[in-house]
Amino acid sequence: MTAIESTLRADIVEVGRRMYARGYTASNDGNISVRLGPDRLLMTPRSVCKGFMTADMMCITDPDGRKLQGDRDPSSEMLMHLEVYRQRPDVQAVVHAHPPTATGFAVAGIPLDRAVLAEVLTTLGSIPIAEYATPSTKELPDAVRRYIKAHDGMLLANHGALTVGTDLYSAYYKMETIEHFAKISLVARLLGREHLISREEVNRLQELRGSYGIKAPAPICPEPEAAPVPGAGQSDDGSVCQVVQAPSSPGSRLVADVVRRSEDNGGAEIRLTYRELSALIEDAIRNLR
Ligand SMILES: [Zn+2]
Repeated sequence: MTAIESTLRADIVEVGRRMYARGYTASNDGNISVRLGPDRLLMTPRSVCKGFMTADMMCITDPDGRKLQGDRDPSSEMLMHLEVYRQRPDVQAVVHAHPPTATGFAVAGIPLDRAVLAEVLTTLGSIPIAEYATPSTKELPDAVRRYIKAHDGMLLANHGALTVGTDLYSAYYKMETIEHFAKISLVARLLGREHLISREEVNRLQELRGSYGIKAPAPICPEPEAAPVPGAGQSDDGSVCQVVQAPSSPGSRLVADVVRRSEDNGGAEIRLTYRELSALIEDAIRNLR
C-alpha cells in the first residue's frame, strides 16, 4: 500500500467520525469516496456506521464500480459517486450525508439559494435541490447529473445532501457549510425576517473568488431569469450558471419583512407573524373608536 493510499484511508475514517459526531449521519447512513488514481476510487463500504470505521474496511473500485479490492461491498450509493466523477474530472472527493437541518430544507422543498451569507456565496454559490429519486437506484445519479456540473453542493429531495471537492476535507467542509447555512436560514425565517444581500454585492463577491483562490464550478447568473431551469442555470448536459435569489439594487427586498398596507397587492399572498397580525387588528380597533 502506498503512503498516499494509507493517508486517504485514514482521512476517510476521520471524516466519517466527524460526520457521525456532528449528527450528519445516523446508524449506517452516508458515504464517502476519493480518487485513488486515474482509474481507481477508494470508498466507504455499505452497511457500516461512519462513526466507527477502520482504515482496512474501505473498498477500491474502478470507475465503473467493479470492486478491485476489499473484504466488503462498496457503498449502496456508489452509482451516485461514480456519476459525479464522470461529470466532474476536477472533483477528487465526494461526501454524502443526512445533516438534519439541511435535510429538513430538502424535505420541505426549499432550496438554499438566497443571497444571505457572503461566505456561502463566495464558496458554494447556490445550493439547489436535486429531484427526488429512490436511494441506491440509478434514479439518483440521474437526478444529481442535472446539477453537478454547476454546483459543488446540493440537497437531495427527501433524502439528504451531497458535496464535492478537490480533496476529501474540502468536500467535507462544504457539507459543514451547508448544514451551518441551513441552521442560520432556519433561525432567520423563524424570526420572520431575512434581509438579502443585493445583486451588486453578489457580483462583487464573485469577483473576489479569484483573490481567495476559490474555483467555483460555475458563475452566478447575472439575472436569475436568464436561467432556463429553476435552481440551476443549465440543461441536462451543459452548465451555464448558478441561480441566486438577490434583490436587484441595494435597499430593495426580495422578501418583504414589513406589511405595506397602502400598496395594492392585487390579491397576492402576504405572510404575517402572529405579532404583526395582532398589531394590525389592534390598530384597526383603535381607528374604529
Ligand atoms: Zn443517503
